[in-house]
Amino acid sequence: MKIICIGRNYSDHIEELANEKPIDPLVFLKPDTSLVLKNQPFFIPPFSNDVHHEVEVLIRINRIGKHIQQKFSHKYYDQIGLGIDFTARDLQAKLKSKGLPWEKAKAFDGAAVVGDWIRKCELPNVDQLQFEMTKNGDVVQRASTALMLRKVDELISYVSQFFTLKIGDIIFTGTPAGVGPVSVNDVLEGFLEGHRLFSIKIK
Ligand code: ZN
Repeated sequence: MKIICIGRNYSDHIEELANEKPIDPLVFLKPDTSLVLKNQPFFIPPFSNDVHHEVEVLIRINRIGKHIQQKFSHKYYDQIGLGIDFTARDLQAKLKSKGLPWEKAKAFDGAAVVGDWIRKCELPNVDQLQFEMTKNGDVVQRASTALMLRKVDELISYVSQFFTLKIGDIIFTGTPAGVGPVSVNDVLEGFLEGHRLFSIKIK
């Protein structure tokens, strides 16, 4: 399976990092080795002193497809989840300044937290989902998918022009504002429409 991530998909987060709004969706990949297995802690990697949390709504692909038309995108997923795109912000800043790829800052072991899944039919419309993440009990990120610059069905159509989507692939749909550093012993919990989908300890 592969993990396809979308960057800069909420304007408030683009502003907090002083980035430019992308003309086309910004896309990067994470390998399967970046997955944090269920109930495992996240270990801060030795090469970063500034790992940030980015809570994101996740889409799980349930059939093979390429060149998917947007009007058919909804047929390619039936589960929605929540996860964290962990980012070594210090390393990413160095790579960005040199115009280099981000993988070392985004795709390292443990950089992808995937929480529990909920069937799409049990949730409101995918473009109207409320989600939030708490750090040690305090809300640090809270948003709605209604604020996405590019909505889920458009993203699926877009990425399928480049990558064949396969069963089990996961799309990270971008983070809203409120990203910030994590420290040893922090506990991050993610909620989608009130369902707690992950709880992860930082080590
Ligand atoms: Zn992200």
